[in-house]
Amino acid sequence: MIPTTRELRRCNDCGDPVLWTVTRAGRHLLVNARPDDRGNQACYRISPRTWQSRSLDAADALPLAAWEHPFMPHIATCKGRATPAPAVLPPNVVRLDTKRRRR
Ligand SMILES: [Zn+2]
Repeated sequence: MIPTTRELRRCNDCGDPVLWTVTRAGRHLLVNARPDDRGNQACYRISPRTWQSRSLDAADALPLAAWEHPFMPHIATCKGRATPAPAVLPPNVVRLDTKRRRR
């Protein structure tokens, strides 16, 4: 199932189309507009313009049902929130990103 363009909104941070979903706990979760096999959210439409999402990572999560599609949480791919590190860091701060790349 693919959301219609009417169901999509624009992310306030990056401007990409996103889908508002409601988790089973009643919270809102933004997911990317298109299904993604790498996504950990099972989403499906529960009423016109309302989508429900549930995490596939939970310990007791059931596998993807026939009516559900995997979606990626938008926060995982949003490019608008990334703030570049300053060129000059304070003396008591260590850059960890350079150390991670060595592995
Ligand atoms: Zn975004």
